[in-house]
Amino acid sequence: MKLDAVKRLLMIPGPTMVPPEVLNAMAMPVIGHRTKDYSSLLEDTVEKLKKVFMTENDTFLITGSGTAAMDMAISNIIKRGDKVLNIITGNFGERFANIVNAYKGEAVKLNIEWGDMADPEAVKEILDKHDDIKAVTVVHNETSTGARNPIKEIGEVVKDYNALYIVDTVSSLGGDYVNVDKFNIDICVTGSQKCLAAPPGLSAITVSEKAWEVIKKNDDKVGFYLDLLAYKKYYEEKRQTPYTPSVNLTYAMNVALDLVLEEGIENRVKRHERLAKATRAALEAMGIELFAKERARSVTVTSAKYPEGIEDSKFRGILSNKYNIVVAGGQKHLAGKIFRIGHMGICGEKEVLATLACVELALKELGFEVKESGVEVAKDVLLEE
Ligand SMILES: *Cc1c(COP(=O)(O)O)cnc(C)c1O
Repeated sequence: MKLDAVKRLLMIPGPTMVPPEVLNAMAMPVIGHRTKDYSSLLEDTVEKLKKVFMTENDTFLITGSGTAAMDMAISNIIKRGDKVLNIITGNFGERFANIVNAYKGEAVKLNIEWGDMADPEAVKEILDKHDDIKAVTVVHNETSTGARNPIKEIGEVVKDYNALYIVDTVSSLGGDYVNVDKFNIDICVTGSQKCLAAPPGLSAITVSEKAWEVIKKNDDKVGFYLDLLAYKKYYEEKRQTPYTPSVNLTYAMNVALDLVLEEGIENRVKRHERLAKATRAALEAMGIELFAKERARSVTVTSAKYPEGIEDSKFRGILSNKYNIVVAGGQKHLAGKIFRIGHMGICGEKEVLATLACVELALKELGFEVKESGVEVAKDVLLEE
């Protein structure tokens, strides 16, 4: 492997850069997963996760990426023909609908223009029209568009209905404000490799009492590996997982969560807000149009439109080959049209300033007339905030 990776700035919206103490934790010896040592590691990790999720609800650590937790959220609550309202503001919102269809449920889609957010009133209208909706899914931070949804306000709506409230906080937990209990979230999912700055491969899920009622009554569900009742039984009886977990990733997650809690959630969210503000201001100063609507802009990832004549592969190629900085392109119909800068996890001022400076150099190299120095404007924002 090229050792360049050590010096690389990974400015994509996940996986994100992992601090050395988290990476080192993975070098601890492999231990049996049916031992007291693993049980106490797991319990400690789950207790820390609950603090970060801000919940008293049952919480489980899953070996598998964020999508495994999304899959688990759906497969345990529905059976053939069950209706789920999927709020779709981008690629990950769409993924929930695909999972519902995969389990032979019926996805009722609320499609919102990509780059914007859902209106809680629109959710209420659909819930009033269909009284048999079993759950509502929403993605807090839509990583594909750089827009976020008002999950607190949507939670205020959903709590008055029978439907369960399922929220994907994969690219927001540990970077943006999430409070599972206050936001009335029945099932909340997250992943290790985004704002939590742990390596990829783990995810987590929280389950409310209201959700357990539905899960226990679901007598015709499909699926085996991600059966929540099995996870509950093993955890309650032995502080274990039903199948072999990634022991070494659990060590890493535990240390990553320590770092989140040491910094404090409030401070961490403020850091992300500050970096987002500097990034947006810099891009706009350079003459680059932001993609997400102003009212919906994410604090963990910034999306921007390519100006006329700037080709995605050339722009990101210069950033990567010449400057060793990796940013993301667009997904689905946004491929070639936007680029995305992830400023999540352990990202700080120097990473953001270096990225913005090199974005400016790459744009100039490709012939774009930069209006004003983005770095200067970003510095002013960072000094103010
Ligand atoms: C990254 C991400 C996921 C999960 O993707 P995996 O590749 O399975 O980890 C889900 N939702 C959102 C919003 C994401 O950003």
